[in-house]
This record gives sequence, structure tokens and C-alpha cells, in this order.
Amino acid sequence: MTHPSSLSALLAWYRAEVGATIPQRIHSRETAEDGDPEWHNAFRRWLTAHPSAEDRDGQLVSPLRFWLWRLGGSRAAYLRLLAYVDCDVTRAANLHGIASADVAHDYTRECLRRLYRLMYAESGVPNEPRRDVRRDCAEPGCPVRTTRLRCPQHEQGLTESARRGTPHAVEDS
Ligand SMILES: [Zn+2]
Repeated sequence: MTHPSSLSALLAWYRAEVGATIPQRIHSRETAEDGDPEWHNAFRRWLTAHPSAEDRDGQLVSPLRFWLWRLGGSRAAYLRLLAYVDCDVTRAANLHGIASADVAHDYTRECLRRLYRLMYAESGVPNEPRRDVRRDCAEPGCPVRTTRLRCPQHEQGLTESARRGTPHAVEDS
């Protein structure tokens, strides 16, 4: 699959992703007819809660939820809004405070591209989002894979090795 780059292609991808991920009972919600977004409580909880509870050995139950969380910030907030209004860009942009249609187009495309890159880059499997979010422990030579920067053992020993002045003790992520 070639990576989607147009807004319509990205929207089609996102719509499918949301449809496949969000439980139907949550997706069929009531919406406010005007003004502020009135999120269904279950939907809000499902999309915004910290996703680590669903993380088992680095295997994600819901990649979309995890990568939205990892994307973070106003882009993730906008994409959650977009999911909530069934990928209606005009409506989502209005709710997000974007007045210009051109800006809405560009912003939506940019947010979706970023999310797509997060979910699919390095997955190693075409058409499959990343489910294994573990990476090698940052401690040189350590074979343990972890969802954090360092495995629990080396995270614990970090303070001690920093005190000893180990060269890679203060390496950044
Ligand atoms: Zn380690």
C-alpha cells in the first residue's frame, strides 16, 4: 500500500481505523446539536484515558488509542474531535476554533499524516499498525525490550551509575 497523502485518502484511512477500533455501543452516541462538543461520557473515557492499562507485554489492544495518546497535544485533541463527529472536517474544525476552510484542510491533513507516521512507521508489517511498542533498553548491551526508555532494572540502577560517572549514564532519549 502506498502511504496516503491526500486529505481524502487520509480521511478514508482514519474513518476505517476509528470504525474498527471504537466499540459500537460507544460510537453510537448522542451529540449536541449546537455549540460545544458534548462528548458521550463513555466515548470520552475510552478515547482519553491513559492507554497503558491495555498494554500487555508491549502488545497494544488498541493501537489507535495508544498512538493518539502518544501524539498528544492539540493535534490529538483535534483528531479525537474529528473521530467524534464521524470525520466531518468542517464540523470538527469549527468546534476546534478553526474558521478558514483552507486552514482546516491543511491542519487536518497534517494531523492525520503525523498520526499515520506514528502508527505505521517502523511497523515492519505493511498495512498493519504498530502493536509492539517495545524498544531496546537504552543501556548499551542490555537485551531487554521495554516500553520505557530503560528496562526496570536499569532504570533503578540509573542513579547509582550516574554517581559513578559512567559515560552513557546521562544519555538522552
Ligand atoms: Zn536494561
